[in-house]
Amino acid sequence: MPDSPPVLVWFRNDLRLTDNPALHAAVETGQPVICLYILETPEDGLRPLGGASKWWLDKSLRALARDIADRGGRLILRRGRSATVIDNVIAETGAGTALWNRRYDLGGRTVDGQIKSALQDRGVEVQSFNGSLLTEPWTLAPASAPYYRVFSPYWKAVRATYAPPAPLLAPKRLDGIALDSDDLEDWKLHPSRPDWSTGFDALWTPGEAGAAERLNAFLSGPVNAYHAERDLPAKTEATSGLSPHLRWGEIGPAQVWRSVAAGMEAGTIVEKPGWKFLSEVGWREFSYVLLFHNPELAETNYNSDFRHMPWRENEADLAAWQRGETGFPLVDAGMRQLWQTGWMHNRVRMVVASFLTKHLLIPWQRGEDWFWDTLVDADPASNAASWQWVAGSGADAAPYFRVFNPISQGEKFDPDGDYVRRWCPQLAGLSNKHIHAPWQADDLLQLPADYPDPIVDHMTGRQRALDAYDTLKERRANA
Ligand code: FAD
Repeated sequence: MPDSPPVLVWFRNDLRLTDNPALHAAVETGQPVICLYILETPEDGLRPLGGASKWWLDKSLRALARDIADRGGRLILRRGRSATVIDNVIAETGAGTALWNRRYDLGGRTVDGQIKSALQDRGVEVQSFNGSLLTEPWTLAPASAPYYRVFSPYWKAVRATYAPPAPLLAPKRLDGIALDSDDLEDWKLHPSRPDWSTGFDALWTPGEAGAAERLNAFLSGPVNAYHAERDLPAKTEATSGLSPHLRWGEIGPAQVWRSVAAGMEAGTIVEKPGWKFLSEVGWREFSYVLLFHNPELAETNYNSDFRHMPWRENEADLAAWQRGETGFPLVDAGMRQLWQTGWMHNRVRMVVASFLTKHLLIPWQRGEDWFWDTLVDADPASNAASWQWVAGSGADAAPYFRVFNPISQGEKFDPDGDYVRRWCPQLAGLSNKHIHAPWQADDLLQLPADYPDPIVDHMTGRQRALDAYDTLKERRANA
C-alpha cells in the first residue's frame, strides 16, 4: 500500500474532469487519486438504465477513461452493489477518504446515505459536493412553503440569488495506483442483435470534449435566435442539444451559466435569448426541486386527484405510438426521431406526450417509461416532471383541458413540413397543405400505402379526454 493513503473519487452523473468539485477536492489533497465508476446493480432501489442511456454511458466512459489516461491515471471500472465495491476498493488500497458529487433521486440518495454512514463508522472520511445543479433543491424556498411549486417565482429567486462559483480547472496530472478494473466491453452497454443505434453516431459525441464543442458551437451564433426558433423542430441548430451532456454531467449547469453570462457581458450574446436559454436550464433545476421533494415523481401523480382518472390501458394503441404509427404525422415523426437518434425536439415531446395521455388516454407512466428506455438524455427529474406537466397531473402543469392539436401544432411549428418529411419520408410527396393531415388530401391516391390511417379521430379523442377529466372534477366536487 502507498505511504500516503489514496483518495477515492466515485464518478456517477459527473463524467468530466473540468469543474468537477469532488475530483478537484481529491486532487487538492496531493494524495494519489482512485477514479472509480461502478455499474450499480438495481437491487438497491436504483432504476435500471434504459437502452439509450447505456449506449451513451458506454461512449462517455470511454471518453472519460481516455481523458484520465492522458493525465497519467486510470479509470477503474467495477460492477455490483456499490457498498460492496467501495468496501473492496478501500480494503485493496487503504483509501482513507471517499468523495463524490451528490445525486438527488431517492434510490441514489438512499444508497449514498447508507454508504456514507457505514464508511464514517469505520473512520473513512466522506465528503459530497454539488456537481450537477446551480442550486440544490433544499436551498431556495418561499416563506410559506418548503419549496417552490411554480416555476416563475422559483426562477426569479434563482436569478436574484445565484452567482456561479469560481471555475475549477481539470487536473493536469492524475496519478492513481494500480488496481484491477473490468473491461468495458464485458459490460455490453452497446446494443447488439439488433444494433438499433446506427443513427446515434452521426449525431452525438458523448464525453466532456463533445459537450464543450456543442456549447461553444451553440453560443457562437445560434443562441441569438433561440427565443424565436427554439420551437421549430426542423431547425436542428436552434436548440443546444446539450441535454444528454448535462444528464451525464459531461458539463455542469454552472459552466453553461458562466459561458452565457460571459457572452452577454461581452455583447456576443443578446440578453433576451441568452436569458431565455438559461431559463430552460432553469426548468431542469426546477424538475430536481420537484423530484427531491416528491421522490415518487416518476410513478405517482403529483396532483393526487389524478388517481381517479379513468385511464385506458391499450397495448395496441401504445405500440402504435411507440412505433410512430398513429397516422398523425407530427406525432409519428417525433417518435421516429426518438427511435433513430435517442432524442426528440422539446415541442414535439410535448405533442407526443399530450397525444398519448389525452387522445389515447393512456397513463403518463407508460410514456415516461418508454422515454426512459429510448432517450439518451433520460433524466430522473426532467422526464418525470415533464410527463406530469403535459399530462396535467404535475406541478405548475398545463391544464388538462389544454389538449394539443397535433395537426395545428404541425401547421404552426413545422409550416413547410420539413420535419415530418425528414422522419416520415413516405409522406414527402404530400403538399404542405396536407402534410399534417394526409387523410384530408383531395387526391387520396397521393396517400402512401405504407402510412397508417389515424388510430383515433382528433375530435373524438379530444372529447373523450375532456369527458374523462370531467369525471375527475365530479369526483373532486363530491369528495
Ligand atoms: P435546449 O432548448 O437547448 O435547453 C437547454 C437545456 O435546458 C437542455 O439541454 C435541458 O437540460 C434543459 N431543458 C430544456 N427544456 C427543458 C424542460 N422543459 N425541462 C427540463 N429541462 C429542460 N429533458 C431531459 O433532459 N431529460 C428528459 O428525460 C426529458 N424528458 C422530457 C419528457 C417530456 C414529455 C417533455 C415534454 C420534455 C422532456 N425533457 C427532458 C425536456 C426537454 O424536452 C429537453 O431537455 C430538451 O428538448 C433538450 O434539448 P436541448 O438540449 O436542445 O434543449
